[in-house]
Amino acid sequence: MSKIPVMGDDLPATMLAMLGHDFELHPWNVSPENPVLQVVQGLITYGHPHVDGPLLDRCPNVKVVSNHGVGVDHIDVAACTARGVLVGNTPGVLDASTADMTIALLLALARNVVTGDAFAHGPHFRHYDPSNMIGTEVTGATLGIIGLGRIGRQVARRAHGFDMRVLYHGRTRQYAAEQTLNVDYVSLDDLLSQSDFVALNCPLTPETKHLINSQTLAKMKRSAMLINMARGGVIDQDALYTALTTGVIAGAALDVTDPEPLPRDHRLLKLSNLIITPHLGSASDRTRRRMQEMTVENLRAGLRHEPLPYGVQAP
Ligand code: NAP
Repeated sequence: MSKIPVMGDDLPATMLAMLGHDFELHPWNVSPENPVLQVVQGLITYGHPHVDGPLLDRCPNVKVVSNHGVGVDHIDVAACTARGVLVGNTPGVLDASTADMTIALLLALARNVVTGDAFAHGPHFRHYDPSNMIGTEVTGATLGIIGLGRIGRQVARRAHGFDMRVLYHGRTRQYAAEQTLNVDYVSLDDLLSQSDFVALNCPLTPETKHLINSQTLAKMKRSAMLINMARGGVIDQDALYTALTTGVIAGAALDVTDPEPLPRDHRLLKLSNLIITPHLGSASDRTRRRMQEMTVENLRAGLRHEPLPYGVQAP
């Protein structure tokens, strides 16, 4: 039986094993001169390469775009749908892992874990000084979650383990979740002004692009800390730089940036009140394995013209 040509880059050995011998795998090369684009039937977006209408027009035989990850802001889903191309993602399975990382960054920021580690490794740590590196108490603090979806709800559950008061904001009020999760719905302004920690757990959409900007940052407490587990584009990074260097807010942690990665000489990389991790939200062993399985399940279903088990609908 002839192998089905698909395109996808940097796939780990575990995922290659799941794909087996059914596919002819081509590296991601979207150059119009690449003849593979004419024959390829499936696109595996591993590591978030962009897929848009012009690319799809160069790939007339593509039936399915299978994304490794839940966020699909790098894929023009409407352009796919208009061309009859199915889009799949990996929702749900990464909620716990991504929520864990949200809390990890919150704790690391609040309690100087990163700067403390560097200090303890360095030459200046000569004796224990009780006045050194006093952090912000997490227990009993107020957490504001922007985007109380699958991941945001898991963040709320974890925050209650620290006796935090949890506020949320989204476009839709979630009455059932308010009861089961003990969270309070507030306006965006109230969330920003009342929270000690603000966690971004929403998708990147035209509406959330630069949701955090100089105006919204100015509404936060000067002692507040911001955690971005969503997408880099949700924050206006120039405004964030100004806020972090002029005391508008106390600190930030970014698991995602725009662009990703930041240029190696970017000024944000020089700030000691900013933690950056390389998009590690869902990067835990069990979660990543399940994400790989779901990506392959979606690919196989799409190539058979079957509904995807984890399909994305155009907005
Ligand atoms: P989800 O279940 O769809 O939840 C998204 C939440 O965001 C919903 O509650 C939605 O509520 C809210 N939202 C949408 N537009 C909003 C707006 N304009 N203002 C405020 N809230 C808004 O998605 P999820 O699975 O939790 O994933 C969320 C995002 O996390 C993904 O899209 C992805 O970008 C990111 N993510 C990052 C990592 C990482 O490694 N860092 C890993 C996984 C996911 P309403 O519709 O009611 O507003």
